[in-house]
Amino acid sequence: MKDNIFDIEVVGMGVFGLSIAWECVRRGARVRVVDHQPYQRSSSYGLVGALTPHVPERWEIKKQFQFESLVMAKSWWNEVELASGINPHYDRCGRIQPIIDEKGLERAHERSLEAKKNWKSIACWNVVKTKDIASWQPETPTGWVIADDLSARINPRLAINSLRLALLKYNVPLTALKDLGKFKYKNKVLATGTAGLNTLSRELDLPIAAHEKGQALLIAYDSSHQPIITAGGVNIVPQPKGLTAIGSTTERFFDNPFKTDYRLNELYDKAVDLLPVLKHSIVVEKWAHDRPRAVTRAPLLGKHPIQKNTYIANGGFKIGLGMAPKIAEVMADLILNDNNRIPYKFSLENAIEEAKIRKVKEAPTI
Ligand SMILES: Cc1cc2nc3c(=O)[nH]c(=O)nc-3n(C[C@H](O)[C@H](O)[C@H](O)COP(=O)(O)OP(=O)(O)OC[C@H]3O[C@@H](n4cnc5c(N)ncnc54)[C@H](O)[C@@H]3O)c2cc1C
Repeated sequence: MKDNIFDIEVVGMGVFGLSIAWECVRRGARVRVVDHQPYQRSSSYGLVGALTPHVPERWEIKKQFQFESLVMAKSWWNEVELASGINPHYDRCGRIQPIIDEKGLERAHERSLEAKKNWKSIACWNVVKTKDIASWQPETPTGWVIADDLSARINPRLAINSLRLALLKYNVPLTALKDLGKFKYKNKVLATGTAGLNTLSRELDLPIAAHEKGQALLIAYDSSHQPIITAGGVNIVPQPKGLTAIGSTTERFFDNPFKTDYRLNELYDKAVDLLPVLKHSIVVEKWAHDRPRAVTRAPLLGKHPIQKNTYIANGGFKIGLGMAPKIAEVMADLILNDNNRIPYKFSLENAIEEAKIRKVKEAPTI
């Protein structure tokens, strides 16, 4: 085969683009990946890496899809590591969530039963006394916590570097757009994050993109072998090399998606309230980025509604790293075998319907 002919061109070196490229290459496709800026600027190149499930009640296709992705993550990342030699530090470390009041305790018990039904014997959602957990113990007014063993963590930057090196070892060119040269490809995948959602909104004249920013920080506190702690919108996530990540703010209105500010200090304060041992830790890095959020708040996957032989994988929002393995699998099925296993809720058709409704709602009244 000629050097300049590819089966697939993937646009975007975030976790979606690289994961889809990896899945397609493993299945024998010839792939190239391009990006218009250094890959370190993607929203995937963050600090947090919490791979946490939705609550196990009111089970639906989105939760089942995410569940499958979380369950397959260990072996999936293991294969990436085997190819690349770079450890992404995946660890199914579990998660502790403090229970705030009696109502929360009642709901936690109900969810425990739901987890038995929906997570089957694969993972547990236990309600336990704080004093009975072996790990670090967050502040909790009731003395009770939820402990699940499905949640995991990964190091986002090592994961991206691991994927990149795995692809390079399979002779996949990772190219800056300016170095394009002459080439041909049969299919194209747009995994272009926020910029891609904005472009799609313009192309369809519909509000497909719904912006949201997040800020996170990394502190010098060794939490290796501890679970994630989650409460009140704060995630405390163990990271390798004596570090702990704290994420993330949720901001709908912002001027600069890459600027950190006082909200990050507030987040850190909340984390310290939750786990006082974190107090006075040295801040190693602060980071901010917008999240690729679609109008549906769900992943946006499928054939491009206008461009021929073009596919879209976007809308990772807050759980893109956790969803990547399963999304790579269904996208490869679609592109290589024309086998569409994408749930309707994640389809472009669904997003277009939602965006039309939003457009009508937001239209100025005369
Ligand atoms: C603060 C914060 C915390 C987060 N925490 C978590 C977490 O704990 N767990 C989790 O699962 N997820 C988390 N996420 C979400 C996750 O990071 C995203 O859902 C995921 O990274 C999206 O990946 P992506 O590949 O779709 O987009 P991106 O990573 O943004 O990649 C898109 C790429 O496309 C490129 N691109 C855009 N336009 C073009 C073009 N025209 N031509 C060429 N290239 C182009 C960009 O340069 C970029 O490299 C977090 C996000 C943020 C911001």
